[in-house]
Amino acid sequence: MVPRVVFGRGSFNQLSEILAPKRLNISAPFIFLVDDVFKGNSWLVSRIPLSYNDKIIFISAAQEPKTSQVDELVEGIILDSKELPSGIIGIGGGTLLDLAKAVSIMLTNKGETKDYQGWDLVKNKAIYHVGIPTISGTGAEVSRTTVLTGPTRKLGINSDYTPFDQVVLDSELTKDVPKDQWFYTGMDCYIHCIESLNGTFLNTFSQTYGDMALSLCKEIFLEDQLNEKEAQEKLMMASWHGGMSIVYSQVGVAHAMSYGLSYLLGTKHGIGNCIVFNHLEEFYPEGVAIFKKMKEKHNITLPQGICADLSDKELDIMIDVALSLVPLWENALGANWKKIITRKKLKSLYLKM
Ligand code: NAD
Ligand code: ZN
Repeated sequence: MVPRVVFGRGSFNQLSEILAPKRLNISAPFIFLVDDVFKGNSWLVSRIPLSYNDKIIFISAAQEPKTSQVDELVEGIILDSKELPSGIIGIGGGTLLDLAKAVSIMLTNKGETKDYQGWDLVKNKAIYHVGIPTISGTGAEVSRTTVLTGPTRKLGINSDYTPFDQVVLDSELTKDVPKDQWFYTGMDCYIHCIESLNGTFLNTFSQTYGDMALSLCKEIFLEDQLNEKEAQEKLMMASWHGGMSIVYSQVGVAHAMSYGLSYLLGTKHGIGNCIVFNHLEEFYPEGVAIFKKMKEKHNITLPQGICADLSDKELDIMIDVALSLVPLWENALGANWKKIITRKKLKSLYLKM
């Protein structure tokens, strides 16, 4: 679990105070990995506390993180500085948070990032790393994984060294998120709750966090009484609780299928989950009915027919990726999931999307 958290509007201003005691020496810089949507945004960038050799690296979130991208970043950081950094600070959405986690791990572990995709393969403690979300929903700020696309698969580095050492939750940083993206990433949180709460891995730890996140999502996406600030703060906490809920359970059908879309078509996580979830009435009847109400209330139109022109070979690739996520299917459908989810079934679902 994340051991240290600061919460509150404006808490980004505490960053200097938080980092100062963690500086190893003046040659060991803090490296800030920042979503390039903030490039030229003096409101945020001017408040990043830089001293000595500290550095900001702007990174585009247009594509989801890749293992090769992590390798390149790590090589650049090592070549650039005499000493290992004092810390890595990720500022952005799930994409930047996952990159910050992965870079901090790979700075202290030999070999290539792709070799660590899986469960508990990391040997050495990561460099001190801090996560500062600027959009709410993925739960990447709290989770034990960093989801990466590698040469052969999309799979996280799941380890005890992955979670952030410190998180700063300042909802003001989310104020300029475009509406569609707010909905897609927010629905990632909602879908985490539905998949966790309806899964066979559910336990009291996961349920209490999932119930809280679900009730916050309903308030934010279905009701009208919250003002903007309250809605931003509540979504930030929904993301946190949704993430905590899946730490001790698992996601389900929507995530398994959405990983397939993302691997083959590059569909991003939030929108990919929405495209899939929209067609999962048979698995999550109540959850999908509420999702449709939320979609309608916020005038969201999802892309359609994205798999219509795919060849059988391409469909097979997506089906392989989806089927490889065994724990997700076990959670969703129980030990006998293979009887319910056949290749034919997955193909017919993908073709509806
Ligand atoms: P994202 O980080 O990909 O960002 C989505 C878009 O929003 C980008 O265009 C980005 O530039 C923009 N953006 C972010 N903050 C903004 C702001 N304050 N103002 C304006 N624009 C802003 O989106 P995401 O949905 O948060 O993250 C998706 C990624 O998270 C995927 O790679 C997914 O695999 C990963 N993920 C990780 C976990 C985990 O536990 N590690 C869980 C779920 C998803
Ligand atoms: Zn997710």
